Amino acid sequence: MSDCLFCKIRDGEIPSDKVYEDDKVFVFRDINPKAEVHLLMIPREHLASLEELQPAHDALVGHMLRLLPQLAEQQGLESGFRTIINTGRGGGQEVFHLHIHLLGGTSLPGF
Ligand code: AMP
Ligand code: ZN
Repeated sequence: MSDCLFCKIRDGEIPSDKVYEDDKVFVFRDINPKAEVHLLMIPREHLASLEELQPAHDALVGHMLRLLPQLAEQQGLESGFRTIINTGRGGGQEVFHLHIHLLGGTSLPGF
């Protein structure tokens, strides 16, 4: 997946503002934030979108979801946060490496 932007960010080939990483995920700030806090969480494994998830990924998905409130708390989002996963062109996905948007704080747009 040498042409994948987020794989390059995961590997440090393209710089990013890293917030968190472990053996399963990498988290960095969105380059074009839509709110005061706007993070992107990606699995280390290249998966293009939710459509590629298999039962073998259930532990990964659970890990990602449970991490979200921990990251939000670390970012000072005591009153709550929003998560978005765009899937496919019709869903507004622009980067085809699965990612969860975590947004919050001031200037969070209406939904
Ligand atoms: P999506 O539309 O769900 O595929 O979202 C892709 C997101 O990636 C957008 O919010 C972009 O602002 C963000 N993005 C694109 N390039 C970079 C980059 N080099 N570093 C951080 N975020 C990026
Ligand atoms: Zn990738």
